[in-house]
Amino acid sequence: MLMFNNLIDGEWLSDGARAPNVNPSDTKDIVGEAVRGTRAQAEAAIAAAKAAFPAWSRSTPQARYDILKKASDEILARKDELGRLLSREEGKTLPEGVGEVARAGQIFAFFAGECLRMAGEKLASVRPGIDIEITREALGVVGLITPWNFPIAIPAWKIAPALAYGNTVVIKPADLVPGSTWALVDILHRAGLPKGVLNLVIGRGSEVGAVLLEHPDVAAISFTGSVATGQKVAAACIASRPMKKFQLEMGGKNPLVVLDDADLKVAVECAANSAFFSTGQRCTAASRLIVTAGIHDKFVEALTERMRGLKVDDAVKAGTDIGPVVDQSQLDQDLKYISIGKDEGAKLAFGGERLNREAPGFYLQPALFTDVSNKMRIAREEIFGPVAAVIRVKDYAEALATANDTDFGLSSGICTTSLKYASDYKRNSEAGMVMVNLPIAGVDYHVPFGGRKGSSFGAREQGRYAAEFYTTVKTAYTMP
Ligand code: NAD
Repeated sequence: MLMFNNLIDGEWLSDGARAPNVNPSDTKDIVGEAVRGTRAQAEAAIAAAKAAFPAWSRSTPQARYDILKKASDEILARKDELGRLLSREEGKTLPEGVGEVARAGQIFAFFAGECLRMAGEKLASVRPGIDIEITREALGVVGLITPWNFPIAIPAWKIAPALAYGNTVVIKPADLVPGSTWALVDILHRAGLPKGVLNLVIGRGSEVGAVLLEHPDVAAISFTGSVATGQKVAAACIASRPMKKFQLEMGGKNPLVVLDDADLKVAVECAANSAFFSTGQRCTAASRLIVTAGIHDKFVEALTERMRGLKVDDAVKAGTDIGPVVDQSQLDQDLKYISIGKDEGAKLAFGGERLNREAPGFYLQPALFTDVSNKMRIAREEIFGPVAAVIRVKDYAEALATANDTDFGLSSGICTTSLKYASDYKRNSEAGMVMVNLPIAGVDYHVPFGGRKGSSFGAREQGRYAAEFYTTVKTAYTMP
């Protein structure tokens, strides 16, 4: 049995209460056992990261490059094994799990390169004879708080830039799915990180997470999770003395617009992928399908047909398209919203049934609602499951207005063969990421990721934009 322990000051600690990590495809299968970290352990981890900061922030870019590159090589070499662990603990399909691990490996390769590229600039002064230098410096100890739905990619895209730019780290992964983050930290530890530079504390948000938010020695918090928790993180970072820098990546209610002139096959593929793959448990999932009247009936019929062909089964079984929902409480939430949708007067056109498979798991037939108004709760609140709502509109103008009529602004998309509408949508969509004739969930590992409104706050994640969060700018004047 795998033991997911905490790494504090270079030592693996197994003491304290433990909780089983259950496979959502087969609840009889225990993937591992995770420690439940305490407030005292979180404090010890912060102290270790603080002590390690001066030497790490002054280490050579080459030394940092070597460790990050070595970690990247091991992650990529073990992607099949780690992808299986990820699929067993989270429930996304094996190709999705392996793909996510590969992405983590690529992120570390990218940020290994960034260690050598970190640079400042020189500006001319308006006064004679004065040099002005703009440099970027590490922040100090950063606290990383991550969700369960991307348990290796999200920790990777926070840990890699944090370390590359010279910060030390305490990471608290979601206690529901801690194994993949533990495996990543183990690889980085063995790749040669000095003790205290990276610390892992698995535990409850209200205990371990709360210490990270309150502690004066934590300089910054990068958080990904729900809006409700994000708001608590923001309030705590502002109230903290000294105040903390913070970055929030939160939920979505992402629209995919389908216009009359769309290629029907492309539109159906984009919708099926964006709404239901990864069991709809993606912040970028398309949960609102906004469809113009001329293509509406054809689109609903073709999408329903596509959904009928999706195989919902054990995440690691060959041929599975959709794995289980992550746990009982998320399944309850999905079923609650399906019943809310019916009560609100929407028509359940397909799915929404609890399914039984060979092993006991949290299986749900993806659900499609039609006759949805954008005012209904199923069109406004994040469900975070394989449930999509089709909203019929008369034309492009109404489609755009409906797409933007939301508290969120993470990703959005349009399926059309019209250059005019595609260009207009890219310009006027109020989302951080906009896709034309492509699935709306996911961007490449080296490009900025993030949104607007209630979805995101602060600097973008990923790629070179990550430097905005993980460094602070210093302006220095010299009169030679
Ligand atoms: P969550 O908010 O319940 O938990 C996220 C993390 O915060 C966990 O590690 C949790 O233990 C911790 N936490 C909870 N309460 C805390 C507190 N009081 N103080 C400090 N930490 C606390 O979210 P979740 O259920 O794990 O993830 C699902 C949510 O994440 C969805 O809303 C989804 O849209 C969002 N998400 C967003 C992105 C993005 O990049 N925008 C990516 C993935 C997931």
